Amino acid sequence: MICEICGKRRAIKTVVIEGAEVEICEVCLGNFEYKTPQGRPVKKREKRPERETEVVENLGEIVKQARESEGLSYAEFAKKVGIKEALLRRIEHGFIPDLGTVRKLERYLKKKLTYEIVIDEEEGPEKREEAYSLESISEIENDGS
Ligand SMILES: [Zn+2]
Repeated sequence: MICEICGKRRAIKTVVIEGAEVEICEVCLGNFEYKTPQGRPVKKREKRPERETEVVENLGEIVKQARESEGLSYAEFAKKVGIKEALLRRIEHGFIPDLGTVRKLERYLKKKLTYEIVIDEEEGPEKREEAYSLESISEIENDGS
């Protein structure tokens, strides 16, 4: 791998600069450290990004359409899904229920109602002010990926 900064020398390390992985050579590594303005946040990747399950935004619409296409009342549909009628009404009006309820709806409708999002790790303000140092670079390297 060639250094992505100078494009000349062999890259020896991977550093994360503002969220992007950059292969960098020994010389540029030194220069970069020198050039980095003080207090400029340099994100380092400490762990794999976390994933979180999000519920589709139009859940209410989907549920309402499904119920109406089956010609069911709130009570009937709620019973089939295995949830309370009052909860079903709220969902159709835009309420996002807990994941357990969403899973019940998914099972009944045979339709995926959730999606995974990757949490962008925003580090705390204290951490962001950490100076860019050789120490933090080697930590990234040891983390591996
Ligand atoms: Zn270089």
